[in-house]
Order: sequence, then structure tokens, then C-alpha cells
Amino acid sequence: MDPETRMYIDGQWCQAGRGDVLAVMNPATEEPCAEVTFGGADDTRRAIDAAERAMPGWAALTAYDRADILKKIAELIRERADRIARLMTLEQGKPVPESKGEILAAAAFFEWYAEEAKRLYGRIVPNSVPIKRHFVIHHPVGVCATITPFNFPVLLPVRKIAPALAVGCTNITRPASQTPLCLMEVFRCMDDAGLPPGVANLVTGPAREIADVFMTDPRVRKISFTGSTEVGRELLGKSADGLKKISLELGGHAPFIVFPDVDVEQAAKTAVGAKFRNNGQVCISSSRFYVHPDRREAFTDAVVRFAGELRLGNGLDEGVEIGPMFDEPALDKSLSLVEDARGKGARVLCGGQRSKRFERGYFFEPTVLSNVTTDMRIMQAEPFSPILPILEFTDVDDAIGKANDTPYGLAAYALTNDISTAIKLAEGLEFGMIGINDFTPATAQCPFGGMKASGMGREGGIEGIDDYVEAKHICLGVPS
Ligand code: NAP
Repeated sequence: MDPETRMYIDGQWCQAGRGDVLAVMNPATEEPCAEVTFGGADDTRRAIDAAERAMPGWAALTAYDRADILKKIAELIRERADRIARLMTLEQGKPVPESKGEILAAAAFFEWYAEEAKRLYGRIVPNSVPIKRHFVIHHPVGVCATITPFNFPVLLPVRKIAPALAVGCTNITRPASQTPLCLMEVFRCMDDAGLPPGVANLVTGPAREIADVFMTDPRVRKISFTGSTEVGRELLGKSADGLKKISLELGGHAPFIVFPDVDVEQAAKTAVGAKFRNNGQVCISSSRFYVHPDRREAFTDAVVRFAGELRLGNGLDEGVEIGPMFDEPALDKSLSLVEDARGKGARVLCGGQRSKRFERGYFFEPTVLSNVTTDMRIMQAEPFSPILPILEFTDVDDAIGKANDTPYGLAAYALTNDISTAIKLAEGLEFGMIGINDFTPATAQCPFGGMKASGMGREGGIEGIDDYVEAKHICLGVPS
């Protein structure tokens, strides 16, 4: 099976109408790994035509019939996970085991929403006058559009596609330009599972050109975007004219608070795992580490030791724990964050530079900073980099105040064995997800999403269905 390099529109694999192609680069070698078709506005309109045509038939199926197809998709994704994982690593850079974990998580979303849509109950609401009866039912929103970034190139689109399809919507997805290959294979699973033509479509092409079609075509009822806060803000503005429903899963700047009652070695190991996964290119990545002064020195020493032991390399190689950064701008951003911090007085305890062990590839050494202050850029905007800055806090109230002092509100983490501290944190932190003694909170059955500049809407859990249905009130007159 060769990797697909075409778009998938109306159940057909096709080339871009204007014949453009784009080279997909391997971040570990800086060489092209494939050439994919690169479409545009006309292809997107064809996809919307197909999604609009498919909508009545798909919505008319029972949730049970749709679930059978979605569960078949999940099964095929699991069967092909090893192969799709290698493709993901090739174009994205993360180590194969991480890629595989992402693909299995995507399969879980198809399965979970297949089942959950069967429980999309309506309501019978008590009447206040004798001559009326009230019912609330759910109606699929319609044709939905999806735009997603490079860092989780399968899971993020699937978190949108699965609930949309489960409730009877149809979808058009536009993946990140440089990570289309693994998602094309997931679309092959959809095709092989017998998804009717037009129900799910995949278009490639320039982001703004395609997004503008989504925004201006009245047949697209909902847009779900995952990406940076800057682009999210732009899309929210553009959605106003067409009064589109819009969900935004945006950036984060997660605090990670280490209380003095925990084992320091274990805390340091957890912190290193939380920070360096996918090179910190994770929206819920921990990016500010607040440590109690009693533990700061021991924690810092252990973190530097564990970070130095991480095995950097091509994600396709056995035993590699950290792959290359996604592209050159990502690497340059990490370098400039370190330089800015150093210039303002930070100490670089390890890393801080492009790895000299590799002739090619965007390899950046896992980095730990101390003497960090809030005027440094790394503390102000989402870093999205493998840099672990260490700061201090005095007590739980101070920790909550410092943690909340950010425009973002996606995820926050703390390590503590004290139940009162845990409850104060859970209640006081202004974040959509709070991990206490846990740093991977994302799961199909629970809501994922942010407060403040981290977005609007939730994916996962029963909340993840709400954005894909309209509540409809049926008022029945019953003459006495
Ligand atoms: P980005 O620049 O906003 O790009 C995200 C997607 O939007 C890509 O497909 C991109 O296309 C496209 N895009 C770029 N400019 C656009 C425009 N003007 N109009 C419409 N689409 C546009 O984000 P990124 O830097 O690639 O991704 C990382 C960001 O995503 C981080 O901020 C991260 O926190 C966030 N994120 C959030 C979540 C969450 O669930 N909250 C999850 C993962 C990532 P191209 O590929 O062609 O550039």
C-alpha cells in the first residue's frame, strides 16, 4: 500500500484542479519525503458540494447504523496503526511509539463517539399550560469544516470528525500543509470501512484560501479550528459575517507546580516527561515550573540529569525518545527564546542550542533554565519549545496566583499528596484541564478545551457532541 498523496472528495481520490503539488519534508533529514497534491478554493467548493449532497442520507441513518461504520473505521485504524505511525514520524518527527499512541487514541475517539451518539437523548419537558406538550430533540448542525495543525496530525482532526459524523453531520477537513500523509491513510480507513461518498472529505491547499471558502459558503454551518491563538482570533472575526458556529482549540501556557510533600526524584522525572514530549510542541505542554524553595535545588539537579539522559534522534530509530523539532522556524524560535532569557539574566543549565550531533535535521537539545523572571518572552507567550524554565512559589495561594497570571487557560498541573491543596488547586486554577499527579489528561470520554485566550468549545466527552447538534424544541398543541 503506497501512501496516499491525493485529496479525498466525494469518495474519490483526486488531484488538485489546478495541478499544484507540495513537497512534504522530513524534519529529521530536511529532505522531501513525499509530494502531495495541493488544492485550493475550487476543490474546496467541490468538497462542500459533496458534503451537502451526502448530508440528508447520512443524517437519516440511525445512530446505530452510523456507529457500525465508525467502529469499523476504528478497527481499520488499529490494524494499520504501525504503518500510519511510521508515516506520521516521517513527516512530523515524533518518535514512532508516540505516533502510534496518537493513532490508537484517534481510533478510541471514533469508537467512543460511535457509542455516545446512541445516547443523544432528547427531553420531554413538563408543560405549564394544559393545552401544550414540549419535546426537545437534537438536529445535526449540517456541513462542518475542520482546520488543524501539525503537532497531532491525526488525533486533532479525528476529535472533530468523529463526533460530527456520529451525530449525522458531514465534514470537510483541511490538514496542516506539512503533515497530510498520515491523515490521508486515516481517510483510506474511512473509505475501506464503507463510509458513503461525500460524508468525510479531505482537501489540501493554502490555508487562508481554503478557510475563506469555509467562511463565505453558506452551506458550511460550522467551523472547528485547532491552532494558534493568533489565527483563531482571525477566524473568529471572519466567522461573524456568515454567523458560523465556531469552535476554537488554541494555544496554552501550562503551569506545573511542585509542592514540597512529593518525592523530588519522581517529580523531576514526571516534569521531564511532561515537558519534552513532542519537543514541547503540545498545546497542553507544561511550560512554567513552579517549585517550592525547600525542593528547588534538588528538583533542578534531578531535572537537568534526566533531561541530559533523553535520547535525541530520528524518530524512526529504535529507542529514540525525542525527535527533531517540526521545522526550521520552530527551531529558530527555541533558540531566540533561550537568547532572550539569557540576555535578561537566566542561567542555561543544559541544552540551549541546536544539537551538534546531527549534520541534518532540526534537533534542539532539551533545555533547562533557572533564574527565570516574568519579563522573559518564554514566560509571556506560548513557547511550544523543549525548554523547561524553573521558578519558585511560597504557598498554594501564591502558586494559584502565579499560575493564573496568563492570558491562556488550557491546562495546569500540580504534584501534591495533600488533599486540601489538591482541592484548592482544582477550584482556584482558571484552566479547562487540571492534572493533579497526572500530565496527560486528554481522553475520548472527557472534555478537552480551554478558557480565556485558549479558545472556546470542548472536544471529547459528552460536551464534544454539543457543538455538532442544534437543540430543537417541538411544541405540540393539545386542544382540550
Ligand atoms: P497555526 O499557525 O495557527 O496553524 C494551524 C492550522 O491553521 C494549520 O493547518 C495552518 O495551515 C492553518 N492556518 C494558518 N494560517 C491560517 C489562516 N490565516 N487562516 C486559516 N488557517 C490558517 O498553528 P501552528 O503553529 O501550526 O500549531 C500550533 C498551535 O496550535 C499552538 O498554538 C498550539 O497550542 C495549538 N494547538 C492547540 C490545541 C488545542 O486543542 N487547544 C491542540 C494542538 C495545537 P499551514 O499548515 O498551511 O500553516
